[in-house]
Amino acid sequence: MPGGVDSPVRAFRAVGGHPPFVDHAAGAYLYDVDGNRYLDFFGSWGPMILGHAFPPAVEAIHQAAARGASFGASHAGEGDLAELVMRCFPSVERLRFTSSGTEACMSAVRLARGFTGRNFVIKFEGCYHGHSDAMLVKAGSGVATLGIPGSAGIPVETAQHTLALPYNDLGAVQAAFDAYQDANGVSQIACVIVEPVVGNAGTIAPAPGYLQGLRRLTAEHGALLILDEVMTGFRLSLGGAQQLYGITPDLTTLGKILGGGLPCGAFGGRADVMESLAPLGPVYQAGTLSGNPLAMAAGAATLRHLIEHQGAVYSGLEDTTAAIANGVAALAREAGVAMTTNRIGSMFTWFFTDQPVTDFASAATSDTQRFGRFHHAMMEAEVWLPPSQFEAAFVSTAHGPAEVERTLEAAKAALRA
Ligand SMILES: *Cc1c(COP(=O)(O)O)cnc(C)c1O
Repeated sequence: MPGGVDSPVRAFRAVGGHPPFVDHAAGAYLYDVDGNRYLDFFGSWGPMILGHAFPPAVEAIHQAAARGASFGASHAGEGDLAELVMRCFPSVERLRFTSSGTEACMSAVRLARGFTGRNFVIKFEGCYHGHSDAMLVKAGSGVATLGIPGSAGIPVETAQHTLALPYNDLGAVQAAFDAYQDANGVSQIACVIVEPVVGNAGTIAPAPGYLQGLRRLTAEHGALLILDEVMTGFRLSLGGAQQLYGITPDLTTLGKILGGGLPCGAFGGRADVMESLAPLGPVYQAGTLSGNPLAMAAGAATLRHLIEHQGAVYSGLEDTTAAIANGVAALAREAGVAMTTNRIGSMFTWFFTDQPVTDFASAATSDTQRFGRFHHAMMEAEVWLPPSQFEAAFVSTAHGPAEVERTLEAAKAALRA
């Protein structure tokens, strides 16, 4: 296995050291094969909002497995999860399940191109929409972590239709819409795809009015607005960032929490757009394991809990995450360590910079060497942060007062050191 991993950031290249080898996980903790117990702040990169091995999800997976792991045919589990998604996301009138967030985003972009008959796609620097060819231009996550401009193996002809603009800069979007018109003044831009709250360059909030501005500009030019809520969906609120900021997109992509830890994604939105998909329309999209019964069951058990306990879940996450993020920010001030703390709900990042972080360029002012040393010291104290300055940290409902205390103690020593 190249680098010993199935996904690059897991290899700890950006922070140094050797990643622990996980034996099992429960609640807020990862247990490695050497007998160490780590407090987990990456939650499988987002999915584990209710903690690891959440009993109702485990039970749902057991029951589904006994009925058959995959059918390759329609079944009621798909309808169950679809109904739960549509309760949370009123903008989703139709949806289709995939097996990953990458597929959801790749398919949503293809659908936008097919529906509009246009080629160009606007994305933003530092945003990650999975590893499909067209989306690996100035991408966040591992691409940002490893400091590579994109990826080898992608023809310029493929990348040339992806316009990567700075996040939080409406003027740049306006200028792109002005520039990309045909001789008759018809826009050539099929869609704008955005992480409404960025997580894959570290956590970055949208400036006031930014998402509203994207909504207005796309509507004016007949382009679709795709909110990539693979990370933020069910995390920032039950209805994701679109509920939090009051934005109605044309399409939404989901993943991570949606599958309760099993491989799952979805894209959905306006009925007229979604009905351009095969077999109803000309845009092809498929998947042998799409709508997998185990993934549907784990996702439904997770969403059902989030819906039934939404008040307690989201206010609890807010309080716990605020205590951790702000607590460490205060300790950094005491220790004289430059740190900018960005937090929205249960997503946060401690950037080792004295600049406000509002886009990828300002995130990149962070002292990544210093982040690496901090990460190492926290690992020594058995607190496992995401192994990159450019990845959001996550808190689960299994994190409580004991975990807050443990994190602050570890951070105090690490920041002093
Ligand atoms: C994780 C992520 C993806 C990719 O999802 P995978 O399941 O890893 O393919 C896409 N978009 C965003 C915003 C993500 O955070």
